[in-house]
Amino acid sequence: MADPRCEHTFLAVKPDGVQGGLVVESSVVLTSNLLHNHYTELSSKIFFPGLMEYMSAGPVFAMVWEGTNVPSMGKKMLGATKPRESPTGTIQGDFAVDVGLNICHGKKIALWVNPD
Ligand code: UDP
Repeated sequence: MADPRCEHTFLAVKPDGVQGGLVVESSVVLTSNLLHNHYTELSSKIFFPGLMEYMSAGPVFAMVWEGTNVPSMGKKMLGATKPRESPTGTIQGDFAVDVGLNICHGKKIALWVNPD
């Protein structure tokens, strides 16, 4: 039986984080299809076209973390969506510039494991 304490969460360093040298390992350029599915609930937002352009601007570094409390721990490490609302010590608070350039993201493992 699966260990109930063993949780999973998805995190990605976005194009601005990869271009800024935050990761040195291999990374992937996202297809338009995957991006649209990933952000489907935001498709009516005014910032959606800009979000698609931003997320296609270069490779991202995608990860699945496994361990006890990783979803809540990952969220705490990332900070808030808006960098100016993220405390010092979080990734968004320390490294991100703007909500449209906010370096990291966490959610939706299944979509990335099986993109089609
Ligand atoms: N975003 C944006 N403008 C906004 C809100 C969100 O450009 O006013 C972008 C930003 O890159 C954010 C992504 O859309 O990370 C997804 O938004 P969501 O609300 O799902 O936040 P997240 O889960 O990424 O913190």
